[in-house]
Amino acid sequence: MDVRHVRSRLPPSYIRATVNAPKIRVVNKSHFPNFENTERAFARLSSGQLHKALLLFQTVGNSGLVRFGKVLMDVALGLRIPVGWAIRPTVYSHFCGGETIAQCEQTIAGLAKGKVHTILDYSAEGKETEADLEATFMEILAAIQSTHCDDRHAFSVFKISGVAPTALLEKVSADGNTLTNEEQKAWERVQNRVVALCAAAADLGTPVLIDAEESWLQPAIDDLARTAMQRHNATKAMVYNTVQLYRTDRLAYLQRLTEQAKTEGWQLGVKLVRGAYMEKERDRAAEKGYPSPIQPNKEATDRDFDAALGWCVDHAHHLSCCAGSHNEKSNALLAEKMIQSGLDPEDGRFWFAQLLGMSDHISFNLSAAGYRVAKYVPFGPIRETIPYLLRRAEENSSVAGQTSRELELIRKEVARRKQHGT
Ligand SMILES: Cc1cc2nc3c(=O)[nH]c(=O)nc-3n(C[C@H](O)[C@H](O)[C@H](O)COP(=O)(O)OP(=O)(O)OC[C@H]3O[C@@H](n4cnc5c(N)ncnc54)[C@H](O)[C@@H]3O)c2cc1C
Repeated sequence: MDVRHVRSRLPPSYIRATVNAPKIRVVNKSHFPNFENTERAFARLSSGQLHKALLLFQTVGNSGLVRFGKVLMDVALGLRIPVGWAIRPTVYSHFCGGETIAQCEQTIAGLAKGKVHTILDYSAEGKETEADLEATFMEILAAIQSTHCDDRHAFSVFKISGVAPTALLEKVSADGNTLTNEEQKAWERVQNRVVALCAAAADLGTPVLIDAEESWLQPAIDDLARTAMQRHNATKAMVYNTVQLYRTDRLAYLQRLTEQAKTEGWQLGVKLVRGAYMEKERDRAAEKGYPSPIQPNKEATDRDFDAALGWCVDHAHHLSCCAGSHNEKSNALLAEKMIQSGLDPEDGRFWFAQLLGMSDHISFNLSAAGYRVAKYVPFGPIRETIPYLLRRAEENSSVAGQTSRELELIRKEVARRKQHGT
């Protein structure tokens, strides 16, 4: 039959809608992640561990209890009362890999079984003396070195405030030209530490993530990260800076940085997060009387985060991206955008990342669908990890929907195991 004859009998609207429609790629449905599979999500946990997780999320879901626990913890720390006995078997064992890198081995192996990679995260915070900063630097360096020839590690990571006095970071961020001689020397030591950590990661071939922090420290962090990217990201992103989309100015920053990398001929490495210090940011802005740098509401943060994911997929030739999020919609959106633009789920330029002990249903179901996934595995002496653990407890008691979702999934898996007698 003459095709032209058939077409001439079709209504023009049909021809416009079909013949002129943009070409749609054929996609492999198995690459759409199914976040409901709890058997896969919790395969790593024994039934005993699952019940402990249930109890933990029930407890941290109670915000009153978390506030009370925080006060108790502050008092105990202030009086130097040992707190390890209470924390080790509960929050610590759920959210941390161990006190040393060696103690994290079981966690690393368990994640690798489910094709989830590790990002070792030395979690000591708030160090100020030179001796403490140097000790933290050595721990981070050891974590970077432990990735050598071990492809269970996707990245290493560090916070610049772990190797720099916070007041100095703040001063450099405000105006780097007003440093005293002594501060200038301290700043050179900070720069040398950052250079050494990034160089070690690049030499060993495992990329390093630089975490984002409070907005009043971030200009100095951005400068250090950009300098390291210019040095090490000539052909591949070996250093990643972090962009917090709860800030109103950060989508534009991501776009400018991409253009700069493109013009100067290096690959941008970027970790996208929503941001962890919202209340602190708003409180400080109100106290000091400047406009809050934070989005007016959650919807605006979500909009910019998802727009940033889209920007990264659209500029995949110039950047590598690690999406650090527990938000199901955003994770599904990135997977969908990758499929639509023909990016292989295993494309080494795109990673999904979550924190140990949270959103296993996202991590393990994404990895089963073929995506590259990694988890932060915090480690360090119990006392040192308390600020990190308190943030996790607060996050899970205050973020609407998050705890109930974790609880719902754990309960579903407990019921499934009961039904199957496993
Ligand atoms: C692998 C990984 C790495 C991370 N690294 C960093 C880092 O380097 N720096 C950092 O700051 N954080 C970091 N985070 C934490 C992150 O920024 C978020 O706090 C956390 O992941 C919760 O956001 P979400 O995308 O998972 O999900 P959601 O639960 O959807 O979002 C919660 C987040 O939305 C934002 N939000 C909530 N309410 C409002 C509101 N009323 N107005 C405006 N915004 C709102 C806040 O950022 C809040 O944390 C990291 C998280 C992960 C998983």
